[in-house]
Amino acid sequence: MNTDRKFFIFTATLLLLFAVAIIINAAINFRSYSLQNTREKSQLVAQIVRDGLTAHMLTNTMDKRSFFLRSIARTNEIKNLWIVRSAKVEKQFGKGMTSEKPKDAIDREVLRKGEPVKRLFENSEDAIFRITIPYIASAYSDPNCLACHKVNEGDVLGAISLEFDIGSIRREGIITLLKIGAITLIFIILALIAVRILTKPYLDFFGTLQNSLKHARKGDFSLKVHTKIKATDVQAVCELYNMLIEKFQNTIGTIEHKLAILLKASSGNCRDPLEKASKTIDMLSDIHRFKMTIEHDSSVAQIFERIAKVIRIVMKTESFLIYEIDSKRNLRTIVYKTVDEIVCSKISMENAHECRAFRTQSTVSSDLFPQLCKSYTGSFAFHYCIPFSVTDSYSIVIMLLCEEQKEVTYFKENLFTLRNYLENAKPVIESRLLMEKLKDRSLRDGLTGVYNRKFIEEFIDKANLQAERHATSYAVLMLDIDYFKQVNDQYGHDIGDKFIKLLTQTIEKNIRKADIVARYGGEEFVLLLHESSFKGAEAVAEKIRDSFSKKAILVNGKHINKTVSIGISFFPENAKALREAIKYADVALYKAKESGRNRVVVFKAEMYQHEQY
Ligand code: GH3
Ligand code: MG
Ligand code: MG
Repeated sequence: MNTDRKFFIFTATLLLLFAVAIIINAAINFRSYSLQNTREKSQLVAQIVRDGLTAHMLTNTMDKRSFFLRSIARTNEIKNLWIVRSAKVEKQFGKGMTSEKPKDAIDREVLRKGEPVKRLFENSEDAIFRITIPYIASAYSDPNCLACHKVNEGDVLGAISLEFDIGSIRREGIITLLKIGAITLIFIILALIAVRILTKPYLDFFGTLQNSLKHARKGDFSLKVHTKIKATDVQAVCELYNMLIEKFQNTIGTIEHKLAILLKASSGNCRDPLEKASKTIDMLSDIHRFKMTIEHDSSVAQIFERIAKVIRIVMKTESFLIYEIDSKRNLRTIVYKTVDEIVCSKISMENAHECRAFRTQSTVSSDLFPQLCKSYTGSFAFHYCIPFSVTDSYSIVIMLLCEEQKEVTYFKENLFTLRNYLENAKPVIESRLLMEKLKDRSLRDGLTGVYNRKFIEEFIDKANLQAERHATSYAVLMLDIDYFKQVNDQYGHDIGDKFIKLLTQTIEKNIRKADIVARYGGEEFVLLLHESSFKGAEAVAEKIRDSFSKKAILVNGKHINKTVSIGISFFPENAKALREAIKYADVALYKAKESGRNRVVVFKAEMYQHEQY
C-alpha cells in the first residue's frame, strides 16, 4: 500500500472515529438529560398530587379527588397516573376507590419498602418511563401527617405511580443525532478534501523522488525531481537531490570513460555503472597484479604458464591449449596444453594459415556452426578459439574445449576479461620475445641458421643435468666434408659456402624436430639425435651421407659433388658426459677419414685407447 492511500485511510478512520465518539456522547447525554428531566417532572407531579390530596383531605372533599387526578393526568406526556393506599390508611379510612388498589408488583414493592422505583420500558416503537413514589408519614411535614393518620413516623401512607410517554422525546433525539451525524459527515468529507489538497504536492514529490531513486539504484542517474511546493525547505531538498544525482552522473561517466581507456575492452553487459565500475576496478587490480608478476618472469614459457592460470580462473575450464604462431615462418607450435589428444590434426604445424581463428583474426565458436572449422578433430563437443596478435609476426591462439553449451556461453561472456589480461601481457611478451630472439641470434650460425658451437657448449651443461633427471639419451654425430679445402682452392669461398648450406639442408631433411644440429666449426657439424637407437642413428647418418654425395652444385656449367664422413658415439652408453661423447664422435670421424672418407663409423672403446687422440 502506498503512502497516499495509507495516509487517506488513516485520516478518514481518525475523523470517523471522532465523529462516532461525538455522536455516542451526544446520544448518551441526550438520553440521560431526558430521563433526568422526566424524573424531575415526576417528582414535581408527585408533590402536586400529594399536596392536592392533602388539600382535599383538609377541605373534606376527598370524594372529589378523582376529578383532580384526571385533570392532572391530562397533562402532556403523562400517559397514566394512579395512586394506591397503604394497608394502614385503608384500615383507618376504608378501602377507597377500586383504582386505588396496588396494580402491580412495583406498587406493592414501593408500599412495602417505602422507596421510589423507576423503570424504563422500551421497544422499537414506544418508550415508557414508569415511576412510583411513596408518600411517607412525617410529624414534621406541613401539615403534620400524624395529626390525621394513625400511623407511626416513617410509615408508608400510599404511593403515586406515573407513566410518561417519552417516545416523542426519543424520536426528537434520534432526529437531532442524525442531524449531528450528517453535519459531521459533511465536515469529514470537507476535511479529507482539504487534507488531500494540502498533502498531494508532498506525496507527488515523494513519488517522483522514489521513482528517481529506483532508477538511480539501477544506475540511471538522469531522472531529476521537480515540485510545485513553494516551501523553501522542500525546494532546498529538491535542489540538493538534483545536484547530488547530477554529480553522480558526471563522476560515474568520467570513471567509466577512464576505465574504458585503461581496459581497451567493454566491461561486459552490466547495466549499473557503479557496479560496473566496481567490477572493472577489481579486474584492473587483478590485471595489475598479473602484469607485475609476469614482468619478473624471465621467459615466454613462464608467461604462458601464468596465462594458463588466468584461463583457468577467468574461463573456469581445465581443457585448453595455447598455440603460438610465427606468421613469417608460417609455423604453429603448441606452447601449453592440458589435453593430450590431437584436437587439430588437419592443420599441419607447418601451415599456420590453415587455422581459421588465426587467419580471420576473430573468435571461432563451434556452437554456431559445428563444422565452422574443418580442422577440428577433438572429441570435445565444443571448441572456442581466441586469436590474439602480439606483434606483426607473432600471435597466439587459445583453444578452449568443453562439453556443454552453457560453458561456451560463459566463455563468450568472459572473453573481454581474458582479452584485458592478454592486452596487458602483450608488451611483456613482446619484450621477452625480443630478448629470446637476441639470445637466439648469438647462439646461431649466420651462414646456415642452425645453432653454433657456443650453443652446443651451453647446451652440454644443461643437457647433462636434464639427462640425469630424465635418463635422456643422445646419439652424437660428428660430420666433416671430405677434402673441402680443395673446393675453396679450386672454386672459391662462395662455392665452399654453398656446399656448407647444402649439407645443412640435407641434415635438416633427415632428422626430427626434437634433434639438434649445430655448425661446430668450418665444414664440421655436430648432431644430437634425441632418444635414438644405435641402428636408428646409424641409419640417419647413412642417409645423410648418401643423399649429400648425390647432390651436386653447378659451377661454370659443371656439376660438382662432395662427400661427407661421419663419426657416431652414444650418450650415455659410450660416455658419462655429453662433452666426452662429442670427443668420441670426433675420434670415430677421424677413423672414417683415415679409412677412406665418405663413410659412417661408430665409436668403439678401443679406437680411443689405440689412437691416443
Ligand atoms: P678432410 O677431408 O681431411 O676434412 O680435408 P679438408 O680439406 O676438408 O680439411 P679440413 O677439414 O682441415 O679443411 C677445413 C677447411 O674448411 C679450411 C677452411 O679453408 C675451410 N673453411 C672453414 N670455414 C669455412 C667457411 O666458413 N667457408 C668456406 N668456404 N670454407 C671454410
Ligand atoms: Mg674440417
Ligand atoms: Mg674436411
